[in-house]
Amino acid sequence: MKIHNFGAGPCILPQEVFKNASKGVLNLGNTGLSVLEISHRSNTFQSIFDQTKKLVLELMELSDVTYEVLFLQGGASSQFALVPMNFLKQKALYIDTGVWSEKAIVEARNFGQVEVLKNSSSEGYLKLPDLSIIRSGDYDYIHYTSNNTIYGTQFEDVLKTDCPLVCDMSSDIFSKQIDFNLFDLIYAGAQKNIGPAGMTLVVIRKTFLDELVESRIIPTMFNYQKHIEKSGLLNTPPVFSIYVAMLNLTWLKEQGGLLHFDSYNKKKSFLVYKELERNTLFTPKIHIGSRSNMNITFDLVNQDLSSDFLEFSLSRGIQGIKGHRSLGGFRASLYNALSLDSVECLVENLNVFERKYHD
Ligand SMILES: *Cc1c(COP(=O)(O)O)cnc(C)c1O
Repeated sequence: MKIHNFGAGPCILPQEVFKNASKGVLNLGNTGLSVLEISHRSNTFQSIFDQTKKLVLELMELSDVTYEVLFLQGGASSQFALVPMNFLKQKALYIDTGVWSEKAIVEARNFGQVEVLKNSSSEGYLKLPDLSIIRSGDYDYIHYTSNNTIYGTQFEDVLKTDCPLVCDMSSDIFSKQIDFNLFDLIYAGAQKNIGPAGMTLVVIRKTFLDELVESRIIPTMFNYQKHIEKSGLLNTPPVFSIYVAMLNLTWLKEQGGLLHFDSYNKKKSFLVYKELERNTLFTPKIHIGSRSNMNITFDLVNQDLSSDFLEFSLSRGIQGIKGHRSLGGFRASLYNALSLDSVECLVENLNVFERKYHD
């Protein structure tokens, strides 16, 4: 039976990428060595490193004249602290859309003043705040999370502002077309749409580096400037994660890049939301206008059927749809590598379950 993996992260990657990654572990491009045992200073690794950086910029349509690319460790969670440590002098504005941005806010408060904007209506995190009210301000930067992986909310448009813009794009990077040139710093844990866990992508506008704080001591490994001075090879980078990211980004490009995934991902999520709206047993959690195309959260109207539904889904090869422990219900993550075919199976699954249990 084919397994359809709807897990939120670490997530599905293309089969082709898994196969090529295994080859590289055994014998990297006929070198007779594994990608895991070669020096990160070797020409072989250097070309993997350069190619991965190039693919990142190419897919985002950014220029290496304007932007720096780093592959750091410590996950997106470390960036919650590194961003304010490096850039927060006085005051920053954080958009709070629930867990993840909340964690980023906690870290930022250790370094300066933090103003918070969130949806104040009774819907809470199930509806996104209106960002159109933000224009300018004397903020060192504005920080937001483009897609909330847990709640299943996603901003459709880029926040418009005159202030430097920082974004945690962990769960929707490379999933749609946006103007990446509007950002000063983008970060993303790799394990959703980029590659295996262990690497965090950071893309920084070079002129934003002129705004680095000078008044505090920043340990070398936490200092963006120091990483850039050493061309991203300040210490041993996460070589395997970078290698697999290269394979996956190559695959993304071959499929047609972000133009392709933009419409493909919208098509996939449309099918699921349509079924959730139609199906009398289920209801989507998130309000129209705030819904994510990457992580779709939903509930059973009758929660007593929860374990039956999970068991039923498992028996049909559908895995990873249990909701986040903080929220309950269900969540289907439709990352780039998840095929339309898997989405159709999920829709069919919801449909057949309804026929079985509807009284
Ligand atoms: C998963 C996730 C994180 C945490 O990433 P780690 O790499 O595990 O630290 C942060 N932000 C968002 C939006 C996420 O989805």
